[in-house]
Amino acid sequence: MLIPFNKPYLTGNELQYIQEAVNLGKISGNGEFTGRCQEFFEQRYGFHKCLLTTSCTDALEMAAILLNIQPGDEVILPSYTFVSTANPFVLRGAKLVFVDSHIDHPNLDETGLEDLITPKTKAIVVVHYAGVPCEMEQIMDLADKHGIFVVEDAAQAIDSSYKGRALGGIGHLGCFSFHETKNIQCGEGGMLVINDPDLVKRAEIIWEKGTDRAAFFRGEVDKYGWVDAGSSFLPSEVSAAFLWAQLENLDTIQSRRKDIWDNYALWFSENSSGGLLSESYLEQFTSATKEIPFQILTSDKKANAHLFFLLFEDLEQRTLVAKRLKEKGILAVFHYQSLHQSSFAKSHFPEQSRRSLPNADRFTDCLLRLPLFHELPELSHTHFIR
Ligand SMILES: *Cc1c(COP(=O)(O)O)cnc(C)c1O
Repeated sequence: MLIPFNKPYLTGNELQYIQEAVNLGKISGNGEFTGRCQEFFEQRYGFHKCLLTTSCTDALEMAAILLNIQPGDEVILPSYTFVSTANPFVLRGAKLVFVDSHIDHPNLDETGLEDLITPKTKAIVVVHYAGVPCEMEQIMDLADKHGIFVVEDAAQAIDSSYKGRALGGIGHLGCFSFHETKNIQCGEGGMLVINDPDLVKRAEIIWEKGTDRAAFFRGEVDKYGWVDAGSSFLPSEVSAAFLWAQLENLDTIQSRRKDIWDNYALWFSENSSGGLLSESYLEQFTSATKEIPFQILTSDKKANAHLFFLLFEDLEQRTLVAKRLKEKGILAVFHYQSLHQSSFAKSHFPEQSRRSLPNADRFTDCLLRLPLFHELPELSHTHFIR
């Protein structure tokens, strides 16, 4: 048996919709399938305005342009995240200010936020790690108090919710990814959600190369031209058609992922108390590990089964367990390296790389993700003991 960490799922309708898009004769962006996908999100999740992009990285770049991030502006973001959370703001000349994770979850620790806010702070970028919601109420209150924008990096968070509201729809802007490693995918793809109505018009212009072409197509202006700085962020209809085949099956895809996630949680919780695996179980597992916390969710936080992780005492134990699982044909993988410790941060934000963010560093060394994908073969907990 060989179980990869991920295998992109195809619903079976992708090629049919791509054929339809080709037959429609308009395969550039912002056509029939782009419209269908955007409306799907607006209706299902109550997002104010959605624009498909070629990636979540691009959606975050649009966000940085839209918020007029200028050289010298400060942007607060977690250290334990993907580089794409940071790059768009660096490209605009922002100074990054990193915030540590919670002790028991990679999401940013909101209690550490206010101390990092200065008169130069322009935005807070939150990352809903594993599709688990950040404490959005406290974060939005803080942002309102200081007049700061909140961008949700919801790359992993499709179909998750916080106190009944869909993630990506709470901050001023939300950014999603449809990369093949995410729950819903089209190879490479993304979406910007504009929740602040004041930002919608300019978002469309930035999306359409700095022109008012979108307004022209709606018949709101009689010709279109260059009205602002922008770029080309639209995916082609080929990508949108693929994405539509996935969105149509969102509930099926989500229910399968949740079953797998629940199964993992069950095996590990049967051998745990309060989210910690019991010592005897772990002796079977590694003969050395003491406790492995995993995610516990409260009723006001609904996560989307994006990924399931275990947390080990140190790098050595994680390496050992990953190796054992690999010998059994199961590919379990680590995740991010703290950005504040990266060579880029060391050369560009040296004062940030000297800060102590112990929880981010702990997740860097100790977190291990288990395989989670639609066609995952039946596993049992015996796969996870020696
Ligand atoms: C996947 C991911 C991204 C990047 O998404 P792309 O669509 O590949 O650009 C950004 N942030 C986080 C947290 C991610 O998981």
